[in-house]
Amino acid sequence: MSEKRDYYEVIGVAKGATQEEIKKAFKKKARLLHPDVKESGDEQAFKELAEAYEVLSDPQKRASYDRYGHEGVKGAARSFDDFDFSNFSGFGIDELIEALFGGGMRGGFGGFGRQAGPPQGAHQRYDLELDFLEAVFGCEKKIEVNRLDDCTTCLGTGAAPGSTVSTCQTCGGMGQVKELVNMLFVQTYQISVCPHCRGNGKKIDKPCRDCRGDGLTRKRKSYDLKVPAGIADGSRMRVAGFGDKGQHGGAFGDLYVQIHVKPHKEMVRDGVTIHVKQPVSFSMAALGGEVLVPTVEGSKILKIPAGIQSGAQLVMRDQGVPYLNVPNKRGDQIVHIAITTPTKLSKEEKEIYKRLAELSGEQLTIDTEDLENDGDENKGADSKAESKKKAHHQNGKKKTDNDDDKDDSSLLDKIVDAFRPKTSE
Ligand SMILES: [Zn+2]
Ligand SMILES: [Zn+2]
Repeated sequence: MSEKRDYYEVIGVAKGATQEEIKKAFKKKARLLHPDVKESGDEQAFKELAEAYEVLSDPQKRASYDRYGHEGVKGAARSFDDFDFSNFSGFGIDELIEALFGGGMRGGFGGFGRQAGPPQGAHQRYDLELDFLEAVFGCEKKIEVNRLDDCTTCLGTGAAPGSTVSTCQTCGGMGQVKELVNMLFVQTYQISVCPHCRGNGKKIDKPCRDCRGDGLTRKRKSYDLKVPAGIADGSRMRVAGFGDKGQHGGAFGDLYVQIHVKPHKEMVRDGVTIHVKQPVSFSMAALGGEVLVPTVEGSKILKIPAGIQSGAQLVMRDQGVPYLNVPNKRGDQIVHIAITTPTKLSKEEKEIYKRLAELSGEQLTIDTEDLENDGDENKGADSKAESKKKAHHQNGKKKTDNDDDKDDSSLLDKIVDAFRPKTSE
């Protein structure tokens, strides 16, 4: 890895910047570099930024960094190298920052910056599977969690009924002890949980049997989750305070609901756009007509213009997915036209196709004499289109615009094909 960059430079503030300025500059940059942002997102740069913020947002670490540079915070600066951002796709920047740095962006992630007090309970994860259309239009789902909560028997005290409870001698009832620790260059106090009362602050004579003195037991709790229209597969929703209760009076953790959206038989979703493949017969492609196309609101009539080509895309405006949190605004549906070639022709149909070929002056076989007269130039099976394509590729570097168009449409075809269930079998 290359040399570490200056943390102030990474965040883009002057050395003397206030905490508020650092926070502001960090948020602004984080929003741009968020790995979910298509145009400017950059996971590596985001990790570098998070590490810089981790240090500079903590007065103690910052002071150490100011004095001794990167050496001064070695071991104390959290590296985000192993952090898996894919777990956080769909998180807004504020949620991501909160997940990374804890509530209110106050201090660091534990360690020196943490406020005294009983720790918050653990966050919980819940996997929620939605039908395709439930995700498109939103829905309400009852979710049930089995989370840690105050023990009913001892009301969370951890003491068996009738047992004597006294203040812990080691920590004087604080539940925490201060310890002087030596960092590379600085001495600092580290606050840790009292080893004697395990943070309780009390000495319990007879621990409660149901919770073994923890004061917490698992309880079922249900919640009606409103899933917003337009939610995407892989995104997460946070239900604040629905995780485990923290020990010794600590706050509840949060519940993270991981959204899984089932694929649809006919529709493929890409953000707010719906892709649908529509087979069209030769006759309809030539003459034009109407077809029934599946949409998220059921089948709708789509006009097929005469002379449409295979691979053409017809747009059905506002027939896509509602924008998340903007329910009145919707994406489009793109209909990918696939012209189907008949494979079994009746005798009569064959005659008609032959007649069609005659009418349009089409030669269905190649006359070998013509080929010899033509010489080398049109050798082999090169159709006009193919030789044109070749020429195009040879000077393709200049004509990138066209190439891009081609790649785009074939990409969409791939999307549709890849996600489509095998209906042809
Ligand atoms: Zn209990
Ligand atoms: Zn204690």
